[in-house]
Amino acid sequence: MLVVMEKGATEEQIEAVIDRLVEKGFTVHRSTGVMHTVLGGVGPMEDFDPLELEVMDGVKECHRIMAPYKLASRPFRPEGSVIRVGDVEFGGSEVVVIAGPCSVETPEQMDRIASQAAAGGAKVLRGGAFKPRSSPYSFQGLGEEGLKLIRETADRYGLLVISEVMDHTQIRLMERYVDIIQVGARNMQNYNLLRYLGESRKPVLLKRGLAATIEELLLSAEYILTGGNYNVILCERGIRTFETYTRNTMDISAIPIVKKLSHLPILADPSHGTGRRDFVIPLARAAVAAGADGLLVEVHNDPDKAWSDGAQSLNLVQFAELMKQLRAIAEAVGRKM
Ligand code: PEP
Ligand code: MN
Repeated sequence: MLVVMEKGATEEQIEAVIDRLVEKGFTVHRSTGVMHTVLGGVGPMEDFDPLELEVMDGVKECHRIMAPYKLASRPFRPEGSVIRVGDVEFGGSEVVVIAGPCSVETPEQMDRIASQAAAGGAKVLRGGAFKPRSSPYSFQGLGEEGLKLIRETADRYGLLVISEVMDHTQIRLMERYVDIIQVGARNMQNYNLLRYLGESRKPVLLKRGLAATIEELLLSAEYILTGGNYNVILCERGIRTFETYTRNTMDISAIPIVKKLSHLPILADPSHGTGRRDFVIPLARAAVAAGADGLLVEVHNDPDKAWSDGAQSLNLVQFAELMKQLRAIAEAVGRKM
């Protein structure tokens, strides 16, 4: 149930509607927009007549949300969500770039990458400390030591930190070191983890699963939102198709589709989307042209020696070139970088 309040509805009128919804068994999520306050009521719809609310003072309109996801749906916040992390805004006019290695490896590696990431205009440093590897024999990440290292490095260059959580038992630890918690593709449907993240106060970057539909991605976001954590950023990172030339197939169309269906910011990850560094720049350009709110790219000072995902990591020269090209595209589509 979605209740849109009149422009200028009083706090008293809003409270009265909230009370009525609660009385009827709904859980209420409030979105205070620039123009309108919107109340999302999640609960028993069967025997409820929207007219009951529509006649209340200060109510503009009231209707059922047909999509299976409610709080993630565009009507809940028609103007779009802007998620502020420090002084960086996701979903605003700026295209935000997150850059860094697949895995946190050494102090020298992190320092060299971070200095070039910052110089090129990236705002967030990435790097996994807990790695979801296909093989249990591959490097699994440095754990807390890696989190400390990425935090110290990012602070030296005024960058924010994002790193991946693999399990709910790691959330408290991650919260001490990172600004944004990443949920990887393999965990997009780990509903238990998503529920725990709904209780965290840290923004969450939720990556689309390897074989997940856009609707499933939005339903996974709903798990986090319904727990009260409204700071969710989505990320298209390529899906499995019959094509084997690239690691995944970068689904550019997901970007405008998510924009239409949801108010949440959507980023693109052309590194995992293609698996090959020679295709990262063209796909990054396409993503920004299609309306992505930002990019997540893997960058390494010595990609051929990277401990994970070297083949898809840009070297430092390529990263500088990427940023130069993106500035032109961003400007052409009315965005800043
Ligand atoms: C990553 O960002 O390094 C990663 C593991 O990504 P994904 O979950 O998209 O495979
Ligand atoms: Mn990776």
